[in-house]
Amino acid sequence: MPSERRWGMPVRDPPVKLAETASGDLIYVDQEEGILEARGRRIILLSAITLASLAEGAVNIFGEAAKSIFYIAGIRAGTAYMRLLLKEGRTPHEALEEMKRADALSGWGVYEYISVDLEKKEAIIRVRNSINARGFSKKGSQVCDFLRGYFAGAFSVLCKEDLNCEEEKCINKGDPYCEFHVYSFK
Ligand SMILES: [Zn+2]
Repeated sequence: MPSERRWGMPVRDPPVKLAETASGDLIYVDQEEGILEARGRRIILLSAITLASLAEGAVNIFGEAAKSIFYIAGIRAGTAYMRLLLKEGRTPHEALEEMKRADALSGWGVYEYISVDLEKKEAIIRVRNSINARGFSKKGSQVCDFLRGYFAGAFSVLCKEDLNCEEEKCINKGDPYCEFHVYSFK
C-alpha cells in the first residue's frame, strides 16, 4: 500500500531514491512493481535508438502523416507543461528557464534561446544534442518533429495565440545543432 502521497502520486513502500539533483528533483524506482517515477509522473528509460526506431518506422510507413502525429503530440506536451509552469507562479522568463533546466535534466538536449520576442510572437531556439535526432539510420532531413511541436505549444501558451514552428536546422541533416523558429501565422 502507498505510505504517503507525493506530487499527487502514490509513493511505494519503500521507494528507492535513484537520483536527487541540486535542485531537489527526485527519481524513484520500485523494482518490485516495475515502476519508475520522476517529478510526479511515471516515466520509462528508453534508448535514443529505440525512440528513433519508433519515429523512423512510423515515418517510413505513414510518411508526412506520422510527422504530424509527433508534431501534435509535441504541441500537447509543450502546452501542458508551459501552463503548469505559469500556474506555479513563474514569469514567462522564469518558465522558459525552468523548461530548459528540467528538459536538460530529462535528457532531451540543451536549449539556447537565441531570440525571444513575446510581443512579436516569435522565437528562435537552438538545441544541442536533441534526443529526437539521434539514432536515425536515414540522414538528410529534419526529424525533430516532437520538439518542433513542443516549442510551438509552449510559446503558444506564452503568446496566447496558436503559433507555428519550423525546424530550420537539424543535426540529422548534418547541421551542428537543431534550430527551431516559432512564429505567428498572422
Ligand atoms: Zn533536429
